[in-house]
Amino acid sequence: MTRGMRIAIDGPAAAGKSTIAKLVAKQLGYTYIDTGAMYRAITYKVLQRAVDLQDERSIAQLIKKTEIELHPGERVQQVMLDGIEVTDVIRSHEVTSNVSAIAALTSVRELLVAKQQELAANCSVVMDGRDIGTAVLPDAELKIFMTASVEERAQRRLAEEQSRGVTTDYETLKREISARDQADSAREISPLKKAKDAIIIDTTGKTIEEVTNSIVNYAEKRLSQ
Ligand code: C5P
Repeated sequence: MTRGMRIAIDGPAAAGKSTIAKLVAKQLGYTYIDTGAMYRAITYKVLQRAVDLQDERSIAQLIKKTEIELHPGERVQQVMLDGIEVTDVIRSHEVTSNVSAIAALTSVRELLVAKQQELAANCSVVMDGRDIGTAVLPDAELKIFMTASVEERAQRRLAEEQSRGVTTDYETLKREISARDQADSAREISPLKKAKDAIIIDTTGKTIEEVTNSIVNYAEKRLSQ
């Protein structure tokens, strides 16, 4: 790779990873890849087809015939599933509460990790998820582990949902975020975990701009080394 790098951003649910990753990518002129959207798209398809979530064989068959495309967009990254746009529907409560179970399946992870590695093979990327620094891009030039208190994460998610016109409440979101973190951290394959060489950024009380700038600064430092 010439002047460029791969930036891995991992961390628990609703820590601000995608908002920040997208801005960092924009500032550096890199490609942004939201890997959570890929797990959400698969989950959406499994739910649509009413496949039993315990039936890994049928899920493995189904995903072999699945095409997921990510297109950069001004507001959010556009997600296409088998040629149909699913950008908004993959953020539904139903998908959110089932995604961790689907993401724990070996066949799902093998397929998506291979696809993510392919996407990052020939370009500079900012990729966010749970296992980017540990499994997808273990040799990424910059690794960030982004956290925030669960209270602040629930507050931010509440504001985001309200701006999308979704009716929900703080306590429900806080419970859902904690449950998802617990499931993602406890799974056997590539659990949510800080990579040994990742820099921890606690975004509690920090602005989007502050966090974005600090990651861009780390990236620029690495590039000049
Ligand atoms: O990032 P987001 O919250 O949209 O991710 C949704 C879910 O997808 C996570 O809770 C996790 O179960 C799964 N995921 C994963 N590995 C990634 C990205 C997301 O297991 N790299």
